[in-house]
Amino acid sequence: MENKNILISGAGIAGTTLAFWLKKFGFNPTIIEQAPTLREGGYAIDFWGAGYTVAARMNILEDLKQADMKISELIFVDENDKRKGALSYAKMVELMNGEAFTLLRSDLAKVIYGHLDKDIEVIFNDSIQEIYQDETEVKVQFKSGQTRKFDLVIGADGLHSNVRKLIFGNEQQFEQFYGYYTASYTIDKQQYKNKEFKMYNIPNKQAAIYSTNDNKLTVFYIFTSNEKIAYAHHDIEAQKQILRDVFENIGWKCNDLLAQMDDVNDFYFDVVSQIKMENWSNGRVTLVGDACDCPSLLSGQGSTLAMVGAYILAGELKTANGNYKTAFENYQTIFKPFIERKQKIAQDFAKSFVPKSKFGIWLRNTMVKLMFIPFVSDYFINQFNDSKLNLKTYN
Ligand SMILES: Cc1cc2nc3c(=O)[nH]c(=O)nc-3n(C[C@H](O)[C@H](O)[C@H](O)COP(=O)(O)OP(=O)(O)OC[C@H]3O[C@@H](n4cnc5c(N)ncnc54)[C@H](O)[C@@H]3O)c2cc1C
Repeated sequence: MENKNILISGAGIAGTTLAFWLKKFGFNPTIIEQAPTLREGGYAIDFWGAGYTVAARMNILEDLKQADMKISELIFVDENDKRKGALSYAKMVELMNGEAFTLLRSDLAKVIYGHLDKDIEVIFNDSIQEIYQDETEVKVQFKSGQTRKFDLVIGADGLHSNVRKLIFGNEQQFEQFYGYYTASYTIDKQQYKNKEFKMYNIPNKQAAIYSTNDNKLTVFYIFTSNEKIAYAHHDIEAQKQILRDVFENIGWKCNDLLAQMDDVNDFYFDVVSQIKMENWSNGRVTLVGDACDCPSLLSGQGSTLAMVGAYILAGELKTANGNYKTAFENYQTIFKPFIERKQKIAQDFAKSFVPKSKFGIWLRNTMVKLMFIPFVSDYFINQFNDSKLNLKTYN
């Protein structure tokens, strides 16, 4: 086996999954993560499809089941909190043959991290500043000042990937903006203990709440914006102000939820964009997860697909005995057409993701009742059908 020493940037979903499989396949992965610890709280994700198969092969399904939030239904409400339509989560899980969870993204990351081999070196609170590569190795300088050598470097550092920027250049070349922004945070107040996901819409704006397993309340927003909004990624106060400007005085519980935003420690605000790249690799460096193929929240599958990409990348490195040229090429050949199909489905869904008019809201509330009529549910399930991928077993 050649090229065994591999640096992974990012301890998110893709990075930890990749480290798990690389170690299992005889490599020696190191993870570098810019955050001081794994992120807590945050938003919930639906977890199904091919990522479920990868999770089963990692033997982590039991832990994911424990983290499942057991959401009963998604309820659409009006400004008086009156029910206007609903979607049963239990029935959705049934449609997926029971192979689905709803859990916090942070809990998914925590579960995978908890299953990592204890020998794997994980460096928190640091990140890559420079990458120099030649035919034989990659020299990496960390922000902390350390310089280290690795055989390969893999960017698993998300939508705004640092490795992608260092190797391929500015994000704008690869970003496809879909006209939405999203935000979330968790509040402590135990005002809502039900296992429902409540969602309030006015045209172009959506606010939602659901409770976590430890009885905290996650608040989740999406709003449309024709143009990209200028703000600094580290300027949380500016991002909170944007959210206030959009959601203040629009009714329902919004003012109360915004008033509790000041003291939260897991505030998240970002653009809803996809990443599309011609090539994911350059020499001894490649990318995985949102860093190279972000399908966005519109796909409802970004995490599970990040796990699948990581599994295939590790598997192809193993199959090629560490020959990175062969492995990186095969990884892209196998996975890119599949993820592009997912990106296309998400892109088509973008127009109707948040209703743009009162009629659109009424239509959504009405259509949701038809969801479980067989041909409608067949269509829905087909969007998430990952069987075409034919996931190899790399043993
Ligand atoms: C609101 C919302 C809802 C979503 N809903 C779903 C859903 O229902 N189902 C689903 O499957 N997916 C969903 N997704 C998508 C999913 O969260 C992502 O696709 C997934 O997390 C991608 O995994 P990743 O590992 O590529 O990136 P991430 O999970 O973002 O991890 C990247 C990691 O890299 C770290 N990092 C960043 N920069 C650096 C740096 N310079 N140096 C070192 N480390 C760095 C970050 O701190 C982070 O730990 C949703 C996303 C959002 C925003």
